[in-house]
Order: sequence, then structure tokens, then C-alpha cells
Amino acid sequence: MIVILKHNTKEEKRNQLIDWLKKQGVDVHVSQGEYQTVLGMIGDTSKIDKDLVASLEIVDSVKVVTDPFKCCNRKFHPEDTVIQVGDAKIGSGSFCMIAGPCSVENEEQIVGIAKAVKASGANMLRGGAFKPRTSPYDFQGLKATGLELLKIAKAETGLPIVTEVMGVNDLPLFEDVDVIQIGARNMQNFDLLREVGKLRKPILLKRGLANTVKELLMSAEYIMAGGNDQIILCERGIRTFDDYTRNTLDLAVVPVLHELTHLPVIVDPSHATGVAKLVRPMALAAAACGADGLIIEVHNDPMHALCDGAQSLLPEDYHKLARDVEQIREVIAK
Ligand code: PEP
Ligand code: MN
Repeated sequence: MIVILKHNTKEEKRNQLIDWLKKQGVDVHVSQGEYQTVLGMIGDTSKIDKDLVASLEIVDSVKVVTDPFKCCNRKFHPEDTVIQVGDAKIGSGSFCMIAGPCSVENEEQIVGIAKAVKASGANMLRGGAFKPRTSPYDFQGLKATGLELLKIAKAETGLPIVTEVMGVNDLPLFEDVDVIQIGARNMQNFDLLREVGKLRKPILLKRGLANTVKELLMSAEYIMAGGNDQIILCERGIRTFDDYTRNTLDLAVVPVLHELTHLPVIVDPSHATGVAKLVRPMALAAAACGADGLIIEVHNDPMHALCDGAQSLLPEDYHKLARDVEQIREVIAK
């Protein structure tokens, strides 16, 4: 249930209503917009007399929200959420370019790539330290050492760092990480979602390999229910019958998610396609359909990358792509 208050409602009257609603046994989520204040009820609203609430002088309207996701629902919070990470902003027209290698391999590699992508205008550096690999015999990441190398790259370039956590026990190592990534394979690791919900830092939540939009939003809801409302959603391709590309990039979810939720939505064309030459057209398409940012794998020597070389762009190709993304954004802003 949501209660939309009349414009210019006095704070005292608003707070009286919130207190009364809380006494009815629900949590009240307040979204104070420029033109509208929306009170979102979380919990069992069956005992609240909706007609009584609707008849109050300060109330404009009362609506029943049947969607199971509440905190991340746009009905609860009509204005876009904007996430600030250092100097970078994501959401509501602020576009963010996140770039870097699949995995952190050594200091020279991560610092070199960080400098290159920064020179191309990237706003954040990505790099996996804990790698979720299909085979236990493949490179599993440099783990804690990888996180230290990311911090060096941040110190050298000023770029905030984005990196994946795989398990609850590793979280204490992520204190200095700017954006914690929950990977596709962990989208429904509910214990991990609850733990990152206790943090007060941005979470990049990737859509699972075979998860629906509703499931993605319910995972965001786990994090928000803990009080962490800084979530960036990421479409990174899903598993379909077609295996010509690594995954199938479901770009329609970008406008769908923008309608359903106030959270920013970015696209990962690297994992979505698995093929470097497909990254560029899909990145441009993502920018054209209104994504709030892109996360792209870049490697100085893709042939020898320890992970995902086939889908990694060379820094010079990333540079050109970043310019073209800007042009697409100019066109759609018109
Ligand atoms: C990654 O970003 O390196 C990664 C493993 O992504 P995903 O979880 O989308 O497969
Ligand atoms: Mn990768």
C-alpha cells in the first residue's frame, strides 16, 4: 500500500500519520520527492482502514501495491535513485563507464589498464580478485592480493574500484572497495545478499544466468530490506536455447526495469556475448535503449589473459567505443 500526500503537507502532520501507520504494525518508507511525498507501507497492511486513510485532509490518494518487491519499486519511490561513487554518478541521466580486466593478474597489468581506461574517460575500474570459475582447475583469482593490487591502481589513478565478493566470509576484506559486485552465480545467495544489505556502500547486483526480472528485483529487495539502498542492477545476458553467443543479451529489461524500479540499470556486453567483436554493437545498443552505464572488460593482452580474453577489448578499441557511446547518448538525449 502507498499513500501519496498532498503537495505542501506540513512535516508535523506527515509525521503524525507516519506514527499512526507504524502503530498499525507496518514499516513506513518515506520518499520525499520535489513535487510529491510517497509513504510506502511494508508488512501486513490488511488491518489498515484504507478508506479512513484516504479521507484524511493531507492525503491525495491511497494505492494498493501487490508487487512483492516494495523498497525497490518505483511506485514507492517515483524519483530515480542516483548512486554516487567518488566523483562518478549513476542514474537519472548520469551515465557511468566501468572498465577493466576480467581478473587482476599483477600490478603492472592492473595499473596499466587502469591508466588506459581512465585516459579514455572511464569513471570506475573493474577487476576480479575472487573469480567464480566453472572449472576448479582454472585460475581462481589472486584473492586478497588482488584486492591490494586494485587499491594500488586506485591510488595511482583515482578511479573507484568495483570487484566481486563470492562469499560472506570474505566480506571483511572488502572494506576499502568502492562498489561490491554480486556476480550472476550469486544473485540468489540470500545469506550474502542479507550481509551486503547491512553495509552502507554501493552494490552492483548482476542478473543471474537464468533468473527473471522479478527474481532480480526480489534479490535487490533482500539488500534494501537490510537498509542498504545503494544498488546498481546489471543485465549481463541470460541462458537461452541459443549458444552461438555466450549468453543472450536481454536488452528489453533496461526499459522494463526503469519502469518497475527507481534503481539504476547498467549493461555488461562482455559477459553477455563472450566475443570481443560483439561488445561494441551491444554496448552502443545498451546506451541507445537508456542504460545508465556500461561495464566492459578491457585487457592489454587478451591472447594471454588469465580469464575471458576472448571477450576483452584492447585499450585502443575501448577508447574508440567510449567516444561512440558518448555520441549515441547525445542522440538519445535530443
Ligand atoms: C565478472 O564480472 O567477471 C563476472 C564473473 O560476471 P558474471 O557474474 O556476470 O558472470
Ligand atoms: Mn569476466
